[in-house]
Amino acid sequence: MRWSFWLEINLSALRSNLKRLKSLVKPEVGFLPVIKSEAYGHGLLPVARTLASEGIYGFGLSDLDEALRLREAGLALPIILLSGFEAPWLPEIARLKIIPAVVDLHQLNLLASFSRKTNKTFSLHLKLDTGMGRLGLSPEELEKAIEILQENPQLRLEGLMSHLACAEEPEKEITRAQKKTFAECIKKLKILGIKPRFFHLANSAALILDKSTHYNLVRPGLALYGAYPCEPQATPIKLQPVMTAKAQVLSVKKLKAGQGTGYGPIFTAPQEMRVAFVPVGYADGYLRSLSNRGFAWIKEKRVPLVGAVSMRVIAFDVTGLNVSPGDEMILLGGPQKEVPAEELASRAGTIPYELFCLLGRGSFRIYLD
Ligand SMILES: *Cc1c(COP(=O)(O)O)cnc(C)c1O
Repeated sequence: MRWSFWLEINLSALRSNLKRLKSLVKPEVGFLPVIKSEAYGHGLLPVARTLASEGIYGFGLSDLDEALRLREAGLALPIILLSGFEAPWLPEIARLKIIPAVVDLHQLNLLASFSRKTNKTFSLHLKLDTGMGRLGLSPEELEKAIEILQENPQLRLEGLMSHLACAEEPEKEITRAQKKTFAECIKKLKILGIKPRFFHLANSAALILDKSTHYNLVRPGLALYGAYPCEPQATPIKLQPVMTAKAQVLSVKKLKAGQGTGYGPIFTAPQEMRVAFVPVGYADGYLRSLSNRGFAWIKEKRVPLVGAVSMRVIAFDVTGLNVSPGDEMILLGGPQKEVPAEELASRAGTIPYELFCLLGRGSFRIYLD
């Protein structure tokens, strides 16, 4: 038996977040939900199936394995591998009709020679590095890439994409520069008479904050899962948390004034208090940096985490609350957003993305709809 710690994944919240995001873009703009890394820890297939029935263009992924799982589950929508590919993936990419984003000339040459050798056609997107300094062809390499594409008509350029380093700040210099470079690359293609079907730049933050990034395809991840990539007050729509992490109290005890709890101890009871122990810890993805900083929700109250996060135990101050073993506690999310991922992440010195991915890894999930 495992300790009682589980995730509740609210698929209607996922649907509603997608609808609300759609309300921010023109109806002709396609949606490419990003469901890499086990749909940010929410569970790849249930998330994919739910979104597939809501009118989307396709899925954005990073791993070939996950693409394979979608296909094996019968999902036939387009899949774009947003971070490129490795050479050994090519036979599967061909067999499963997956669309790779090509992130450098090396990959483009690999794809070209594989397609010639096997006599297969491929659709691809070119990923440009417009200033993030991560994956992508430099704008200067675009012409060389076009040359290779023109010599290889079995390669079909379906899209041109780039990624923003600082999408949550649309007015920042780097964001303006990236948008300008992207627009110039599009112009360069037009002059050459090349017109791919898609141009795309927007992640969640750009989708929410800056219409000029929408082009005709958007790639939201985080916002679909109900967390805000930017200040909630800057967001014209309300997002609902999809992931709620819950656990049952394992044991409750009284601490005397001056008594410590846990390793160190890094917490000492200032006066007599009651502490509830919950069988969750950093082994479950509950970050150790939440030691003395985390919080949870039980009996309609927010309760502070006290002491160090251990491998499989955390403690909460439940003084004055009628808490007993077996009582349910919300560690993240909640129907009324009792434990906001943004706030917990900031207390842990990280971002909601990391909390979702870590808590979602290997945890038991229950799907609600
Ligand atoms: C992960 C990813 C996204 C999604 O970003 P969010 O901030 O979660 O919306 C979009 N585009 C690319 C290329 C990505 O890798």
